[in-house]
Amino acid sequence: MGVGVLALQGAFAEHEAVLDRLGAEWFEIRSSEDLKKDMDGIILPGGESTVQGKLLRDFGMLDELKAKINGGLPVLATCAGMILLAERIEDDDTVHLGTMPVTVKRNAYGRQLGSFNARGTFGDLEDVEMEFIRAPYFTNIGDDVQVLSIIDGNIVAARYGNQVATAFHPELTADTRVHQYFLDILGRIAAKRCSKSVFQTISLFSYRKLIKY
Ligand code: GLN
Repeated sequence: MGVGVLALQGAFAEHEAVLDRLGAEWFEIRSSEDLKKDMDGIILPGGESTVQGKLLRDFGMLDELKAKINGGLPVLATCAGMILLAERIEDDDTVHLGTMPVTVKRNAYGRQLGSFNARGTFGDLEDVEMEFIRAPYFTNIGDDVQVLSIIDGNIVAARYGNQVATAFHPELTADTRVHQYFLDILGRIAAKRCSKSVFQTISLFSYRKLIKY
């Protein structure tokens, strides 16, 4: 298996480079055929959410991706990816995947002065370097959404179940901890899957023994 990286538009190659540095397997997702492959999780990169949303629709991938995420497929969504996940976009009726119960504001820092660098906490991780490029932030989050980062009073990273969204670009800094955080989620899910199947094998084995004697 491995991590699927949505590679329709935007900064997907930078995510792939980080996964390489962390020794994680990955493959690109460019079509609905690719979406059918088994994957441990998916990365939705930054770029332009309107373009990415249009391509997902044009290529007939939107509904399938939405169903996978609603079914529990772990996601790391950065910047435009975060906008794709949002249930609501401020001052806009567009909904792309809409799998995360949050409202986001696009280009929230203004179009011209929208790019900056900051350092802050991300969950338990401290002093994480954050690169913002015409970034959104969350203006509202649902009850079950966990806040991971706040910069200047604005929520810039959050998690809902297996969906992790950041307004900043962790793939553009040397700090690999956000990706590692995501890979740890995938690792825990894989371990659970494995212990479940071991448990099933053991119970099948004892059942067989039981009917034998
Ligand atoms: N402003 C972009 C959008 O609205 C997001 C920018 C980014 O991904 N760096 O989609």
